[in-house]
Amino acid sequence: MDNRLPPQFPVVTRSNLSLSRISAIAESIWKETLNLVFPPRCLGCGKVDTVICTGCLNILTHTRPPNSVQPLPPLNAITSTAVHKGVIREAVQALKYDHTRLIAVPLGNRLTEQVRAKGWQFDTIIPVPLHTHRLKERGYNQSELLAAIVADETMIPMVTVAVERTRLTRSQVGLSATERRRNLVDAFIAHPDLVTGRSILLIDDVYTTGATLGACAQALFDAGALSVYGLTVTAAQN
Ligand SMILES: [Zn+2]
Repeated sequence: MDNRLPPQFPVVTRSNLSLSRISAIAESIWKETLNLVFPPRCLGCGKVDTVICTGCLNILTHTRPPNSVQPLPPLNAITSTAVHKGVIREAVQALKYDHTRLIAVPLGNRLTEQVRAKGWQFDTIIPVPLHTHRLKERGYNQSELLAAIVADETMIPMVTVAVERTRLTRSQVGLSATERRRNLVDAFIAHPDLVTGRSILLIDDVYTTGATLGACAQALFDAGALSVYGLTVTAAQN
């Protein structure tokens, strides 16, 4: 009698179970080895064995935000928690490029404090989306990690699927303000069923010329949003 399982059933045998266990062990040994050869360094001062030391975390937490709220049409207003320099700049870069995801927590707390201080009224939190290709490359959207902290603290829902990036745009780094705006024309689309009549807090990591926030907000207004406020961790000094 043929008692083999039909091919559509995934067969978990003792040998491939132990294989996955071996690869998990190998991975942790590899990580330990990497830590020995390249120990983590404080993103602010370079001190060995920590991603951020107590002193730098203290600066990160207690740097006072600038008081400014700027107009940035079509957004109702925009504010940032700090100028893009020093430890906070390093933290934003580490979150974006070095996979230091935990740093999203103190940065997200800064965003929450800032938005509370402004007293803005909003009912939906939306992180600026990444294109799916870039999301696959990085494995996460740094703005979504930040927005999730704000959503948790304020108990206001975060909606991540309300806006999509429809085009894979080239990096904005090194482009002029006009080039940045041109680069982002029609780069976003918002879903009316998720944003019509909503007051939105749009969250991103860095504000440089406002081209990204502006293009994203335009898509939200086109889809029927009532108001859109922009909040970023840092703002470049222009
Ligand atoms: Zn440090």
